[in-house]
Formats: sequence, structure tokens, C-alpha cells
Amino acid sequence: MRLKIVQAGDPVLRQVARPLSLKEIISADIQRLIRDMRETMHDAPGVGLAAPQVGLSLQLAVVEDRAEILRDLPAEQLAERERKPVPFHVVVNPVIRSQSDESVDFFEGCLSVNGFIALVPRAKTVTVEFLDERAEHHALQAVGWHARILQHEIDHLNGGLYLDRMRTRSFSCVENFNRHWTARPMAEVMAELGVRTER
Ligand code: ZN
Repeated sequence: MRLKIVQAGDPVLRQVARPLSLKEIISADIQRLIRDMRETMHDAPGVGLAAPQVGLSLQLAVVEDRAEILRDLPAEQLAERERKPVPFHVVVNPVIRSQSDESVDFFEGCLSVNGFIALVPRAKTVTVEFLDERAEHHALQAVGWHARILQHEIDHLNGGLYLDRMRTRSFSCVENFNRHWTARPMAEVMAELGVRTER
């Protein structure tokens, strides 16, 4: 079943979500929710979806970067973003254990800020501990786009949106992004937008 995705301004997106117990994770209700969130993410389409985005303040997110979608993107864009297919996986009660000092800026959108996009600096590499849908523990080191997706989803679980971290001068509607900014080198885009990277 496809779920309704809530938009910025809904209070649930600003709440710190509550962790799930091991028993809850394997319950029929949460297993059904995971299936529905997967279907909702595919349908959107998106590369990640957090439970608060479907109105539930729970520490649960789904992630998948599908090869079918990447096939349609330019190879140099994929290389620059270190973007590779990520198989579907479930992230419960995640904690970022460590992250690289090095951060990178790329345009990022959100299904709960529909129709907009902005440059967001994110750590290039993160190590995340979490439980999966079988309540099994993982410590995952993610790089590039996968690291970005995880940081974005974990922000959601802590009441954050990319708007809190974005380079404000880069905020754009998707239509204007496609018209003016999409195909250009990042350094040139940042210079023209007057984005200052020291922070
Ligand atoms: Zn989002």
C-alpha cells in the first residue's frame, strides 16, 4: 500500500523519533510498514524514506538506489557523486558512529520538500550502526551518495530537514534547477550562486 508523504510544516517532521524495540521490529505491524514504505519510496520515486515522512515518529528508514535509475544518469555525474547502486536495506535506530572531516557539496532534494532542491554539504564517509528488519545489528561504512542518503534519513529521524544544513543561496525550485544549474560543474555553480564554503 502506498502511504501519504507529509510535507514540510507537518510537526512530525520536527520531532525526534522514538526507537523501536527488538520485539517491535519483527512484529507484523512493522514488517507491513516496511513493505509499504518500500512501495511508497519506489513509487515517488526516491532513494530513501524515513518513517516521520509518512507521519510516524519512529526510528525507521528504508534506503535503495536502484540500478535502473542510475542507468539514465550521465556517467561523469555518477562518478563525481560516487553514486553506485545500493540494494534495498532497512535502517532501524541508527547512530552515526564516525564521519569524515571531508565534506562535499551536491544538490539534494526531499520528498517532504516537494519541488525544491539545494546544495547541501555532507560528510563524504560515515560509519553507521543500526538494526535491520530482522533486528540484526550492523556497522556499515558508507561512502559517496550512499553516505549522503544515510545522513539525510538519519536527520529525518532526529527532526531535521536538509533545509537546516543547505547552502541557502542555492535553494531552487526543480524547474529552475533543470533550466539553469543541472549540467554545470559544481565549482562554477557555487561561484555563480555566491556560495561560501567555509563554515
Ligand atoms: Zn527527505
